[in-house]
Amino acid sequence: MSALRSIFLLLSLALTGAVADAKPISEAELRKHVEILASDAYEGRGPGTEGERKTLAYLESEWAKAGLQPGAADGSWYQPVELIKRGPGQTNVQFYAKGEKLRVVSKDIVLVGRERQFAASRLPTVFVGHGVNGQGKVVADVKNKLAFMLADEADFVPTDMKQARSRRMALIDAGATAVVSISGEQFDFPVYRRALLSRPINWAVSDKRAEIEGVISPQYMVALVTAAGGDWDKLRAAARSADYAGQTLGISVDLDVQSEVERISSHNIIGKFPGRKAGSGAVVFMGHWDHFGICRPEGAEDRICNGAVDNASGMAVLTEVARRLGRLRLDRDIYFVGTTAEEYGLIGARAFAADPPVPLDRITVVLNIDTVAIAPKGAKVAIIGRGRTGLDADVEAVAGKLKRKIETSTDSNAFLQRQDGWALTEKDVPALMVGGSFADLPKLEAFLNSDYHGPDDEVTDTLQLGGAAEDADLHVALGRYFADTRKYKPKKAEKGTGE
Ligand SMILES: [Zn+2]
Repeated sequence: MSALRSIFLLLSLALTGAVADAKPISEAELRKHVEILASDAYEGRGPGTEGERKTLAYLESEWAKAGLQPGAADGSWYQPVELIKRGPGQTNVQFYAKGEKLRVVSKDIVLVGRERQFAASRLPTVFVGHGVNGQGKVVADVKNKLAFMLADEADFVPTDMKQARSRRMALIDAGATAVVSISGEQFDFPVYRRALLSRPINWAVSDKRAEIEGVISPQYMVALVTAAGGDWDKLRAAARSADYAGQTLGISVDLDVQSEVERISSHNIIGKFPGRKAGSGAVVFMGHWDHFGICRPEGAEDRICNGAVDNASGMAVLTEVARRLGRLRLDRDIYFVGTTAEEYGLIGARAFAADPPVPLDRITVVLNIDTVAIAPKGAKVAIIGRGRTGLDADVEAVAGKLKRKIETSTDSNAFLQRQDGWALTEKDVPALMVGGSFADLPKLEAFLNSDYHGPDDEVTDTLQLGGAAEDADLHVALGRYFADTRKYKPKKAEKGTGE
């Protein structure tokens, strides 16, 4: 075959898009990215760390090679996301009743301040039960007080206030100086303490806190109330009522709390393939690049949470999908978004949704990719967000052309709020997570109950990328479909049909 003839053949193939179809994305291609992003050199990709710098440099380089252009609103690759990291430091706590110091032997108390230093003397305390009553109203006067709140949910609390966080926010709005949660059955003390010691990260934009927040164990609470001459069982029983009105405890407290408070400048990385038809909308591929960084104390055998499955695998898929789509020129703009701080509450995705480079109502679909190295080849395709966007039939048709079988249950919607797409769903943007990882929930649960969010989520010989490779091909096909104005026309009427 002559060189000329082969060039002609290549050209004609490219014109029909056959080149993109010809070569499926391989496990080896994905593995290469996962091995780099989940290597110890990347330190577990903690926001604001050297690991972030390396991760973003790698992605920028790979995405630029794929043909992506900088896609952030300011014309760069990066959308700044300001974060605040807090953890407990030295704390002195002394409770008093009737002017006498109370002796509490338990050490089960962890307090974290909004600022680095906090001191107060003889701060009054109040036991607020679950915090709010059956009407969702704060149960007692908490202004300039320390409120002890039961963390566990109560049946009588309105649905939107059930979470401990919502009830805590209500107490903060009501002027509480300190909100101390009493751990319980849903969140026991060791879990709570570990969470605070891990120095969690918040989005600076929504950093609403009491001066002091923290947790004590029920044992501590019993000891405290008993030392003050009270009866904890009675207090606890009274709080089960929907019209509980709180109780001052006759206890005050001296606090001297030092905390670690660190401001972090992190980033979403955003790349773009400009479409052929300006103003025809945009397809957004999303995945979080971050993980928990150096997550174990000094001296631990393995200190790095590498996040190979969660979510180096997703970034690998995103990158290979970009390489394939970069060879085409499609109608709609296509964005690739690597979000930061997903692990701390979808923060990067929320920042994207709050200040997107393309107006939200111009987004045709968001396809989020997270934790994809779970299923083997041949897995069914599940849709997180099924029944909520009007796009299920489109996704199924595209998957069907690739001979993928469909999981038709909505069981995987249990994960709806645990993935970045939720930040867009909340703003009525059609967002889906499509793939095999969520089709076999027992397999996924096995991962969630073992290596997930620990140092063992790292690259091994048994890392399962078979399903991820098939899902990558599926996302190339979904990108081609949703970015094609003739194949896919937005069905406004079906948007937000809910469940
Ligand atoms: Zn995670």
